Amino acid sequence: MSVVTGPRWASEKEGRSFTRFPVTTMLNGAELTIPLHVITGRNPGPTFGIITNTHGDEFLATIAIREFIGKLATAQLSGRIVLVSVANPMATAGFGRLTPEQHGRTDLHEVYPGNARGNTTQMIAAAITENVLHHVDALIDFHSGGSGGRLQARVDHNSKASAELKEKNIALARAFGAPFVHENEFAGSAAHYLNSRDVVAVNPEVGGCYLGPATSRYYTQMMVNGLDGMLRHLGMLKGKPAAARQIHFDTKARRELRPRVSGYLVSHFEEPQQLGTLIKSGTRLGEVVDLYSYEVIETIDAPFDGYLFFSRYSGMVGAGTQAFALAEAAGSKSIG
Ligand SMILES: [Zn+2]
Repeated sequence: MSVVTGPRWASEKEGRSFTRFPVTTMLNGAELTIPLHVITGRNPGPTFGIITNTHGDEFLATIAIREFIGKLATAQLSGRIVLVSVANPMATAGFGRLTPEQHGRTDLHEVYPGNARGNTTQMIAAAITENVLHHVDALIDFHSGGSGGRLQARVDHNSKASAELKEKNIALARAFGAPFVHENEFAGSAAHYLNSRDVVAVNPEVGGCYLGPATSRYYTQMMVNGLDGMLRHLGMLKGKPAAARQIHFDTKARRELRPRVSGYLVSHFEEPQQLGTLIKSGTRLGEVVDLYSYEVIETIDAPFDGYLFFSRYSGMVGAGTQAFALAEAAGSKSIG
């Protein structure tokens, strides 16, 4: 008789389930658990992991994932989706990026594979590693901009992956169809850990929070299409992902423009459709107005010809905050 190993959900038949797996207890007396959706298709196929709300103020993907899985017919699905809808419930409850705890590293994005005897953030990572990461064939860790009106649409892949795995990561990233594919560094993330085990994993980073109805809808649709494209790429849904013209750039081509002063940023790029356009060197991207004197205290111009891949809505910015980011045209590659 064969011994069944692995998590309980590994033996689920076609259908959907929602459970929570335990981590520890919290000071408010409640148990800290991690939510897990499992959607099992009619036909055999790979197990695709999705993690989101790793950072507690990046909730836009939530509504896109909900819409996508709500429409997904299990009869058409080959394989299984294993979805952690809120990876860090404590950060989410605190409406912040990090786990509100006293000691140690509190960014869940930096502590994988975690440690069951570490701090709470490490315990969360260890529980997700044990219950999810060790049982998937591919994974995405879905991020969006946090509070602060951020516009962005890209999939990041790991600069440290082996050449062979990098190719697979890029193929999955491209299937998402966002305007940018970015070779980035994210040591300590779930995707980075899985890459070290030779499992394909990338991080979509789309939209932001409280962007208003039109932009939220624009990004939600992009994410729904992106999930569809990734499942097609993995052979879990029939058909090919839609072809998309995309820009690939690495960290050397990336330039973040951070005002040296604090104030009200007047942004000249507040439409999501403006991302991906070539910005000529010297183009005014925005200016910072002093909240006190009403003077313009800094102007922000494009330092070279580049593709705008990150922008902000007008609003308050602290000194050193990323206001805009460009992929230098000379170091970027058009693909597709
Ligand atoms: Zn994030």
